[in-house]
Amino acid sequence: MTAAALGALLQARGYSVRLRKLDPYLNVDPGTMSPYEHGEVFVTEDGAETDLDIGHYERFTGVSARRNDSTSSGRIYSSVLQKERMGTYLGQTIQVIPHVTNEIKAFIGKAENSADFVLCEIGGTIGDIEGLPFYEAIRQFVLERPEHQCALVHVTLVPYLDACHELKTKPTQHSVKELQSIGLTPDVLVCRSNQELPDKERQKIALFCNVHSDSVISAPNLRSIYDAPVSLHRMGLDRAVLRAFQIDPLPPPDLSKWHNVMDCISNPEGTVRVAVVGKYTGLDDAYKSINEALMHGGIANRVRVEICWIPAEVFESEDPRLQLEGCHAILIPGGFGERGSEGKVMAAGFARRMKVPFFGVCLGMQMAVIEAVRNLLGVSNAGSEEFISEYENAGEQIEPVVFYLKKWTQKGKNVQRSKRDAKGATMRLGAYPAILRPGSLAARTYGTRRISERHRHRYEIDIKYRDQLEQQGILFSGMSPDDILPEILEIVDHPWFIGVQFHPELKSRPYDPHPLFAAFIRAAIRQSRLV
Ligand code: GLN
Repeated sequence: MTAAALGALLQARGYSVRLRKLDPYLNVDPGTMSPYEHGEVFVTEDGAETDLDIGHYERFTGVSARRNDSTSSGRIYSSVLQKERMGTYLGQTIQVIPHVTNEIKAFIGKAENSADFVLCEIGGTIGDIEGLPFYEAIRQFVLERPEHQCALVHVTLVPYLDACHELKTKPTQHSVKELQSIGLTPDVLVCRSNQELPDKERQKIALFCNVHSDSVISAPNLRSIYDAPVSLHRMGLDRAVLRAFQIDPLPPPDLSKWHNVMDCISNPEGTVRVAVVGKYTGLDDAYKSINEALMHGGIANRVRVEICWIPAEVFESEDPRLQLEGCHAILIPGGFGERGSEGKVMAAGFARRMKVPFFGVCLGMQMAVIEAVRNLLGVSNAGSEEFISEYENAGEQIEPVVFYLKKWTQKGKNVQRSKRDAKGATMRLGAYPAILRPGSLAARTYGTRRISERHRHRYEIDIKYRDQLEQQGILFSGMSPDDILPEILEIVDHPWFIGVQFHPELKSRPYDPHPLFAAFIRAAIRQSRLV
């Protein structure tokens, strides 16, 4: 968040920025990690599966990240080992220093001239074993550059102890000591705490950590993450960073865009309740971008969006009405696996019949199609190939309306895969175009006929029931340019029912809400006036 907010502050001063993330864990990318482990997987335009921090970077700066903006120990080591096998190292003994650290330095260095400021965040906590090669690499990186061309910003925790009503600076002193012992002296300290740091504590940290007191920045808890740029500016973060580069901090940044966002968040003209029916409802980070995009939809309409997380399984034993009736709209987010899928089908059916605004994202759209084929066309065993083994175990034969895609084209190139392929990075990933049907709700909402949105899925909706569904008022209003893969579905005689095969939430920004989320919340407001 600090990196993202700093990026926004530097932009507000007219600089170009690029944000990058280095994660010391050993996974090659987070694509195979459970959302419970690591929160949502964020997908870039060019199809990389990355850490959710990249999503924060994009939301704060509006700069689209690239595949090469994130790396991990796993990716760094893979590349070193590949070079070793290729004989690139000419018989040397391969070691963490210099081979791994050189690889990290090369990663950072590659982006060096691509923007005025390149912000590289190193994940994890000082003291983590797998972080060490990264710290060593940045130590060398800084040393090898002219003075004042790099700055180190260290984010630390200043805990508040309720029992003695005291802010404790010791953890900060210790982590800075740890950094100094490996040759790194931070230029700026960002101190996270639940309240603003009093001057006395700031001075103390400055003295013991050998950092200028104006460069000890207080980062208290905020009402909204979108207050961070303005708050951190008030605390002096951008000035401290510019000082490290010996850049004149005048004129001050233009933060009007952020003041406007804050104003919409703090002065809403009403509240709408959106039910999110999903699988990982116990963990906020699992649906981070959905969460944020809903909030952006609220900003677009000047309302507060209250999210009611509902685990989909509850509908398998309980009447959906009990949970859903008090909500003004229903969203089914993306997801994987059979658990809860029948509950999602029921929630989609409830929204269709009761005319409650509905937004199905990726798996959410697939479930809505299964529901429609089952209940409008009478194909009672309609299902998804994704869950075929579960159906077979239960002795059921299914009629797949959602199927495993084996061949498609991306930017004119053919892509092929088989079910036996490895799980990592084998989905339809990244930006793909779609053509919208003129006059449809989708086309009216986007205000254009050709769109491009980011994807992350293995399965696709089969068009074999398209004509029959259209006779029932269900339109595939967005299609892949070859007219084979449904991208958007909508119900004609319904206040607002849209399913999308892609992830629009990834491109929504607080100051530029995604049109579908803005329209969905507008529909929720209309619904709130009815109930
Ligand atoms: N599990 C579904 C698929 O792979 C949907 C994925 C998603 O919602 N991102 O097609």
